[in-house]
Amino acid sequence: MKAQGESSSLIHVYSREFGKLILIAKGARGPKSGFRGLLEPFSLLNIHYNEKKGRAYHFLSHAEYLDPFTHLKTNPRAVLYGSVLLEILYKIPDTQTDPALFDLLRDVLTAVNRGSDAVNMHAFFILHYLRLEGLMLDPEHCFQCGKVPDKACFLPHSGQILCENCSQGYAPVWELPATLLSLLIMMMNENIARIAQLRETTADVTLLNRLLWNTLASRFENCRTLRSVDILRKVL
Ligand SMILES: [Zn+2]
Repeated sequence: MKAQGESSSLIHVYSREFGKLILIAKGARGPKSGFRGLLEPFSLLNIHYNEKKGRAYHFLSHAEYLDPFTHLKTNPRAVLYGSVLLEILYKIPDTQTDPALFDLLRDVLTAVNRGSDAVNMHAFFILHYLRLEGLMLDPEHCFQCGKVPDKACFLPHSGQILCENCSQGYAPVWELPATLLSLLIMMMNENIARIAQLRETTADVTLLNRLLWNTLASRFENCRTLRSVDILRKVL
């Protein structure tokens, strides 16, 4: 016979109103639970919970789907790239509630669920997340001299883009091919609806991903090692 606690689930939620929450769903794994099947990663939910003041966790009282993101969940590539985004949110320090960050995540996952390219949407999320945090990666200006670079170089340790001149003397330096640079510029300047329509990029995806993950790691100590990134590196 199972103790009641064993069938409960502890879930991490990112909410629009309250930011990161830890909730306990009592009996969620029981056969008659109303939560059954609802509490999986990538579910967009409407939830109610009972707040216990001064506690690190609360009790979930009601949950219903706003969008189960069924297509995303059945697409392994979308799940891999999407897991990076969820892990970033899980790892970043509890900052103030940011509805704009919630909206960004919801819109990116919605686009992936509707068939947009997971690589593009993953890049769009990271670039715009950094911008929201005031830690933007600027692909249009050299971080050092501010000029528009003809040839751009990326410094993987500091996570900045420099012109060819200013990057002299730094090592390592990654030269950014024109296709990759124009993709980054487009990601920063176009809205999500436009990016969601893009086909699979012809730019070097490995370089794009490494650039994004290095940029994240340079700005957030907690994002230096991401389990989902390690998995992606192995399977790509
Ligand atoms: Zn420069």
